[in-house]
Amino acid sequence: MTTLIKNGLVIDPSQDLNAQMDIVIKGRKIQGIYPAGKAPDSEKTIDAAGCIVIPGLVDMHTHLREPGFEYKETIKTGTMAAVRGGFTSVCCMPNTSPVNDSVAITELILERSKHGSCDVFPIGAITIGSESESLTELEALIKAGCVAFSDDGMPVTNSLLMRRALEYSKIFNVPVIAHCEDMKLSEGGAMNEGFVSTILGLPGIPKSAEETMVARDLSLCELTGGRLHIAHVSTEGSVNLIRDAKKRGINVTAETCPHYFTLTDEALISYNTNLKVNPPIRTEQDKEAIKNGLKDGTIDVIATDHAPHHFDDKNKEFDTAAFGISGLETAFSLSYQLVEIGVIDLNQLIKLMCLTPSNILDLSKGTLKEDSDADIAVINLKNKYKVDALNFISKGKNSPFNKWTLKGTVEKTIVKGKVYDWTENKKDKD
Ligand SMILES: [Zn+2]
Ligand SMILES: [Zn+2]
Repeated sequence: MTTLIKNGLVIDPSQDLNAQMDIVIKGRKIQGIYPAGKAPDSEKTIDAAGCIVIPGLVDMHTHLREPGFEYKETIKTGTMAAVRGGFTSVCCMPNTSPVNDSVAITELILERSKHGSCDVFPIGAITIGSESESLTELEALIKAGCVAFSDDGMPVTNSLLMRRALEYSKIFNVPVIAHCEDMKLSEGGAMNEGFVSTILGLPGIPKSAEETMVARDLSLCELTGGRLHIAHVSTEGSVNLIRDAKKRGINVTAETCPHYFTLTDEALISYNTNLKVNPPIRTEQDKEAIKNGLKDGTIDVIATDHAPHHFDDKNKEFDTAAFGISGLETAFSLSYQLVEIGVIDLNQLIKLMCLTPSNILDLSKGTLKEDSDADIAVINLKNKYKVDALNFISKGKNSPFNKWTLKGTVEKTIVKGKVYDWTENKKDKD
């Protein structure tokens, strides 16, 4: 079976492509890219006129919640939500129940992912149970299919164990993803500590809770020569620390998430618990620093930190509501705003959401090169739509962007040759 995608603007930073081109898919692979009108005849044609045709998005920070929290999300619903958002690969964090700290759990996730809608790459826990007491069997987990290690949701509180994990990350050439939070400093906090938290009377989480741990992990990365990736950067101080570390040649990469460059803590005046996220949404100054970090390459990746929750987990007092945002289905449009306001160009955006996360984790994704998996997103950048969180495919309807009008609709997502046509609101099973 061959499929031709024609009339689209093909953008693929892995090959420096940004032109009207035609793509031919054969089976599950990309057969070739041709000058417009020059592709060989195919059995099926997709007209991408008016759209960009880009590599499928790669999310290196997703919570799929399975096993253990299937009432919040499952691999099935989470991967379908990913595909709806233009993602064709997701990396799932290990804070499931049980935690993905063993080969058996990694294998279970991979087995269940066979029935998912896109590729799932598990991230293994750094420590058993993510309890910061003893390291997991990192090598065995890599062999089972883990592409990185993280205790996300929790920091590794034992600095010696973090040192050892980073030493292994060098040996195995697999990154350690740090959730940077000093649990004593953040204890009891519900939002960013500052003027707004004082006005609202909500307990605050100081920026230092993040920055002290970023500083520690950068120091340990320098000491060990390991591979460190900093998750969900939210503060100006963290951006500055990472920028400085990179200048000194430390082997660090970093990600941020759409909510950190689109929102400020002033939004929390609404007491909308869907704005409660960890690390918390910060100030205008932090938001601008995050944008600058994306612009100058200090921050390498935009990830979703998709954290779906059940309605009951959020329908509580702000203090006690769960942390997290259901992010897969709005990530691209929110990030595209950065292009609209001139912070980054489209090429950079696609690097941030496709090529770089794939390269960091060595996934061989995020590219439209010949013979690579036919993972493609067809997106209309001119189309506007109103976010309707209740209609998310994800079980988690917890979005602070509900009712926002955004630009950039995912028209089609192609996962290894299989076409999901969102314009017809149905799945094409060809
Ligand atoms: Zn985290
Ligand atoms: Zn997370």
